[in-house]
Amino acid sequence: GNPSRKLGVALVGLGGYSTNQLAPALQLTQHCELRGIVTGSPEKIPVWQEKYGIKDANVYNYENMHAIADNPDIDVIYVVTPTSLHRKFSVIGANAGKHVWCEKPMAMDEAECQEIIDACRENNVKLSIGYRMQHEPNTQTVMQFAKDKPYGAIERIEAVAAYSGGENRSPDNWRMRADMGGGAMYDMGVYPLNGSRYAAGVEPIAVSGRHEITHPEVFTEVDSTTHFTLEFPGGAVAECMTSFVKPGNKLEVTCAEGSYYLRPMSNYNGVQGATSDGRKLDKPIANQQAAQMDDDARAILQDMPVMVPGEEGLRDIRIVQAIFKSAREDGKRIEL
Ligand code: NDP
Repeated sequence: GNPSRKLGVALVGLGGYSTNQLAPALQLTQHCELRGIVTGSPEKIPVWQEKYGIKDANVYNYENMHAIADNPDIDVIYVVTPTSLHRKFSVIGANAGKHVWCEKPMAMDEAECQEIIDACRENNVKLSIGYRMQHEPNTQTVMQFAKDKPYGAIERIEAVAAYSGGENRSPDNWRMRADMGGGAMYDMGVYPLNGSRYAAGVEPIAVSGRHEITHPEVFTEVDSTTHFTLEFPGGAVAECMTSFVKPGNKLEVTCAEGSYYLRPMSNYNGVQGATSDGRKLDKPIANQQAAQMDDDARAILQDMPVMVPGEEGLRDIRIVQAIFKSAREDGKRIEL
């Protein structure tokens, strides 16, 4: 193909993240163009067509989105729906012969993640998971530290991604529903989980988890706060927390000969930190989502491996399932 052409992206699910982050970020990309929408809300269609100049022929709903197969304007479908629907729409996109970008958390369980990976492989399309932090430059410095070990062996990681206010959500919001993939662990917990894994640079060998119960009258189906511990080969331990009812956002790494941190570690803007010897981790980035989509577009245009493949999403979901199992079994240690 022509490596200088722009890829046509269709957003699937025009909710908060598509509306407020991804569509504006697409305007800032070098290699992507917002050309299509897939939505179940007819009232959104004229608004989006007007705002982004989207052709009638590039507007789909969830019933007819298979027909995107015949649309050469669209190269990529980006699945930005509730988590329980990621598998379905990612597989439809792959079978339509389109590259797939799928939001975090990848899917409900390991089998669903594997189904997405298989569909993309069978259709010879690329699959990226929307872990935007791995495209952020200060996060990338921490990932490089895990390889180079400038402060000696990594001994302890503390990782938190949490916010308060979730207790005010209505019970029909999908983030409050178990069958939709709601709850703090799926939604925010994958940040400390993925963060601990990229900060350690190796895969955990065991995990334990527990839910902290607050507001049980509101959180009838899903976790409001979850604590989990990851054990890494060589003895490093990560202590993690995620929550819908209390705030926190950090990734701290203690090594044999020093330490470093990112605070915040997962915000859209202002991810920054420092090292124990005074080095600032404060590289600027204009827009994380634009950087992510351009990285993923370059991988497609140049036929190179993507930075965050499906296997990366699957590994986290396998561990999320183990954390839930441990929490059901009194925090039992589970080998991975
Ligand atoms: P919203 O609830 O704001 O939007 C979800 C959209 O999905 C809806 O507006 C709707 O779009 C579509 N949808 C399709 N079927 C359903 C259904 N049965 N119930 C509800 N919505 C449905 O969620 P977000 O945009 O906040 O999150 C979407 C995804 O993006 C999630 O996987 C989430 O984890 C991820 N996300 C990632 C972030 C990141 O930083 N990487 C940040 C925020 C979210 P329509 O009306 O067009 O059909």
